[in-house]
Amino acid sequence: MFGKVIRDIVKVIASGQSFLLTSHLNPDGDSISCETAMALFLEQLGQKKYVIANRDGCPAIYRFLPRARKIIKAARVSGTFDVALILDASDIQRTGNIIDLKTQVKKVIVIDHHLSALPFGDYHYLDRESASCAEQIYNVVKAGAKKLTQSIATCLYTGIVTETNKFQEANTNPAALRTAALLVEAGVDPCELGRRIYEENSLPQLKLLGASLSGLQVSHQGQVATAVVPRQLLRKTGAKVEHTEGIIRFARSLKGVKVAALLRQQNDGFKVSLRSQDQVDVNAIAVKFGGGGHKRAAGFFLAGSLTKVKKEVLLKISKQLSK
Ligand code: AMP
Ligand code: MN
Repeated sequence: MFGKVIRDIVKVIASGQSFLLTSHLNPDGDSISCETAMALFLEQLGQKKYVIANRDGCPAIYRFLPRARKIIKAARVSGTFDVALILDASDIQRTGNIIDLKTQVKKVIVIDHHLSALPFGDYHYLDRESASCAEQIYNVVKAGAKKLTQSIATCLYTGIVTETNKFQEANTNPAALRTAALLVEAGVDPCELGRRIYEENSLPQLKLLGASLSGLQVSHQGQVATAVVPRQLLRKTGAKVEHTEGIIRFARSLKGVKVAALLRQQNDGFKVSLRSQDQVDVNAIAVKFGGGGHKRAAGFFLAGSLTKVKKEVLLKISKQLSK
């Protein structure tokens, strides 16, 4: 189905001379996996001139991945590039407008799997059915690589395992499992990788988790769980923004909860994350606030006080619950 665009992407990559790789704000395992695997793929094709830049850098837990140390944290990238590869980001705002595509880049390749994915480049490989963007990178690598190396496989497996939350989210499908199996055959050690990603939490991270869960609020007859991370909680526990990542899963794990919300204080408001069990479309809620994501995992930013943000978010959740 995507054969032509994948072949075109490989051709553009093979003929370019300089590359920018980027992904979305607060990059997750899938974002980092796509960038690092793509960097290794570029190297296989003899392409050494690339920059990997994210507005929020690379979370510490993924720094062990090959080439992750090349990821720079930058609000804005200067210079010009033959090709920009925008990975796992549904529009240019999601990268934090890290580059001006019109003046700084000759060709723009967009590879994404979000429901809100927009065709804003020259080449678009948008597969809203794909469980992870890493699987799309796998298809590109397979079409053009000389060899699926253990390093590339390790990066891509990280994307699949984190984006499916260890193969237990609703996006887990036969393709994700099949690709994961092929990556294990290519040399990935799932146990070792799982340990590095999930079993090396820091004390501040666990303290943050404990503190935010102790303030968990349950509403709507037990169907909604809301956790809040005020700025001072990060200061108090010594945790970083990236350590807020797993909190919402615990909120959603409460029996009877259909929608979990995490409100994380940021700038003049809150970054809101939503997760649902099967039934509720949280992307529809996020879109109403100018955000997006997937049916069961979505996010957005909302300016204002905690009271105002919580009220507005709970109201929209309420409406979506009754649909
Ligand atoms: P998060 O709540 O940040 O973990 O994000 C959940 C999902 O929604 C991920 O797939 C994100 O890429 C996506 N997402 C989060 N915030 C936004 C936004 N403002 N616009 C579009 N997609 C978003
Ligand atoms: Mn992502």
